[in-house]
Amino acid sequence: MVIFMIRLIMLFMLATTLFGSRVDTFRWSEGETYLMFLERFDLPLKSLYYNLDKDDQILTQEMHAGIHYQILKEDNESINQILLPLNDELQIHIYKYKNSYSFEIIPIISSTKTEAFTIKINHSPYLDIIKATGSNKLAEIFVSSFKYSLNFKRDLRKGDTLVMIYDQKYRLGKPFSMPTLKVAMIEMKKKKHYIYLNDDDRFYDEKGNEVEGFLLARPVKGARISSRFTKRRYHPILKKWKAHLGVDYAARRGTPIVAAGSGRVTHAGRLGAYGNLVKIRHTDGYETRYAHMKSFRKGIRRGKYVKKGQTIGYVGSTGRSTGPHLHFELRKNGRAINPLRVVQVTTKKLKGKEKKAFLKLKENYDQSIDLHLKNETIFTKTTKPDTVCYFYNGGFCEQDRLN
Ligand SMILES: [Zn+2]
Repeated sequence: MVIFMIRLIMLFMLATTLFGSRVDTFRWSEGETYLMFLERFDLPLKSLYYNLDKDDQILTQEMHAGIHYQILKEDNESINQILLPLNDELQIHIYKYKNSYSFEIIPIISSTKTEAFTIKINHSPYLDIIKATGSNKLAEIFVSSFKYSLNFKRDLRKGDTLVMIYDQKYRLGKPFSMPTLKVAMIEMKKKKHYIYLNDDDRFYDEKGNEVEGFLLARPVKGARISSRFTKRRYHPILKKWKAHLGVDYAARRGTPIVAAGSGRVTHAGRLGAYGNLVKIRHTDGYETRYAHMKSFRKGIRRGKYVKKGQTIGYVGSTGRSTGPHLHFELRKNGRAINPLRVVQVTTKKLKGKEKKAFLKLKENYDQSIDLHLKNETIFTKTTKPDTVCYFYNGGFCEQDRLN
């Protein structure tokens, strides 16, 4: 603890002497909007919101409770720069420029490490993973991976083993964003069960059959896709970073929009750049959003339960929109994911070339799993300090303060 304190003081000294400025980390509070945030810090709404293009305005709505952000202040307490993470790839960078403030979207600098652990079951996979790793996220990922194929309650015995190999992003030495499962194995009644992440970003069992998950219907029938999902893309003409956290379906004004899955409506009303927006909460932490609607179907309001395929509203161009279309989003635990990867009619079986490639990938994973089983790999917290320059426009680099 003392060493930690000394390091912290040293860090501030370093920051103060070298740059005459200080970085503080804050947590985005419940119910706060981006515009409220700007007002609270007396920042110009025009250059930091109203003059932005439609996509950037929509992105500002990604800020939600619990997100950690940084403010770099000068000696006289005036704000020099702010970093607001939008997803695990991009962040808003607000910086002082010619006596005012400018807005840009820049990539987040993070490093990814592949990690693994082996656990002997004592109570349940969920509780044992939390006990070993301290991570609810890892426990949830593991349990939901096998949810549709295995029955832990019935078949699991004390002393059975599980192995998990996953990618974890780190930012400033701390785990950042959701881990990505690469392969999971659980041995029950002496039989090993696997789930593999294939190159197509879908999960398959050891036979190459897709693992059944959340199935969605197309929200607008027969509509053309006019813009696809991207978490991070550099626009070569505009020379700026962009993200489009949904899929756009171009359709005539008034075309019915249907619920992509069954669930409960959590929002039906106007919301900033989204215009008329419906949000539906589904099982397993999934949420769908339908933006720019002309109007809602009668009776669609907060709290209402809707069935997959049921009409909820009509295509329009409300909010910041250039023409009639549906902006459709899919979220898992609040994070935007690509809906086109989830929309499907039947579960996929790998065949031919695809199956061959999968079997090769599987062989490599199986060898890793065997190695971790043999070594009884235990979960270890990453202790390697990182140096991250997160205010790189101002040339500010910080050494990880964890260790
Ligand atoms: Zn869109």
